[in-house]
Amino acid sequence: MRPPTPRFRRPNGRVTTAAIAGLLALAVATPASSNSTPGPDARERVHEYEVTGPRTAAQRTAVAATGASVDAVRRDSIVITADAGQAERVRRMGYLLRVLPGPPDRGDGRKPTPFDFPPADAKYHNYKEAMAEIDADIAAYPSLMSKQVIGKSYEGRDIIAVKITGSAKAAGAAQPGAAREADGEKAAAKPEVLFTAHQHAREHLTVEMALYLLKEFGSQYGKDARVTKMVDSRVIWVVPDLNPDGGEYDIASGSYRSWRKNRQPNNGSSSRGTDLNRNWDYKWGCCGGSSGSTGSETYRGSGPESAPEVKVVSDFVRSRVVNGKQQIKAAIDFHTYSELVLWPFGWTYDDTAPGMTQDERDAFAKVGTSMARSNGYTPEQSSDLYITDGTIDDWLWGNQKIFAYTFEMYPSSAGAGGFYPPDEVIDRETARNRDAVLQLLENADCMYRSIGKEQQYCT
Ligand SMILES: [Zn+2]
Repeated sequence: MRPPTPRFRRPNGRVTTAAIAGLLALAVATPASSNSTPGPDARERVHEYEVTGPRTAAQRTAVAATGASVDAVRRDSIVITADAGQAERVRRMGYLLRVLPGPPDRGDGRKPTPFDFPPADAKYHNYKEAMAEIDADIAAYPSLMSKQVIGKSYEGRDIIAVKITGSAKAAGAAQPGAAREADGEKAAAKPEVLFTAHQHAREHLTVEMALYLLKEFGSQYGKDARVTKMVDSRVIWVVPDLNPDGGEYDIASGSYRSWRKNRQPNNGSSSRGTDLNRNWDYKWGCCGGSSGSTGSETYRGSGPESAPEVKVVSDFVRSRVVNGKQQIKAAIDFHTYSELVLWPFGWTYDDTAPGMTQDERDAFAKVGTSMARSNGYTPEQSSDLYITDGTIDDWLWGNQKIFAYTFEMYPSSAGAGGFYPPDEVIDRETARNRDAVLQLLENADCMYRSIGKEQQYCT
């Protein structure tokens, strides 16, 4: 493990960096004990807390082991989401807890509309609006984009993948898997790149990120040279909403609920939901980086891929194996918040491990650091924050050898808006990742070029 960087960081699914001043200003010091009503529905009454004391990844991992989710990481404090019982266990570890304000009231004093964003955040897209927007993009750029329903969420909503690619054949390539190979021609398939969003329900800005990508690739094709070249020479997949049920639940009352998981019931428990980003089938539940308790924010599910949404996307990724070769070479899974670029592994503190050579780690770090330079995020290995297991990045790399990153988007801290930044920031904060996304696309055909080893690995 590397020493902590001086900047604040935040991990898979949550984030961090609340400026202390901001936290102090926000801390209305609601006594945590005032809501310590245990019981089956206790998990519905979660709060965000600033926890002062944990300084090392091992200490943060121990806090996460209570079942709380670690939302943000600072040098000597963290932000967690916890129910009363989890908070009490953290307190007994000797740390100081301070309740943070709940989700903002963005109602503008107007009556909330069920299953929609509060009036002040109307520019965010609920599920129906997002699907309509995507259909409009596809209608506007039919030669570049198409959509497929790759499966259903637990509650039966479509999970879709949008395919974006130009008609130009890259280096004489056929479409992956096309019949071209029948005549013995070796098809040089276009490298494929996957962008996924919204594993965690309350991280709504990530859906906007996916919508931005569709718009940008569509509208800039034929105008912007970098975009045109990448759309022509890559197959770009965008899965804009991995957790539509959770996202809709988060806004179902017309105001925010700070919901994280999916909405799948759990046997023998009144607590709903699996943390999708602990449910992937690689070292699932191996290492103290997820919880076996249904009430936990990081509940890993009853088994790997037990969440239908994870199964759907895993099956989709596996379907991109053509003639024994995974066509997807690189990926970004978008989360909020903390402004981080993270790479695997999350299950171990070690930089290299079985399944991660030094060259692989170096390519991850080189491209990750370069992307972070363009968007101003902080680059680091995921486990520098704390241990996680069963995450999408660990699975995409460990199981499918896809160079997979997690972006923790805006803001940097809880005090700056946490999971609910106002809709005024959408345009700025999605465009902020334009260059990083293009960098990943440009590196996707040979990630090892970044460390000067193209000859060794990519010829
Ligand atoms: Zn997340």
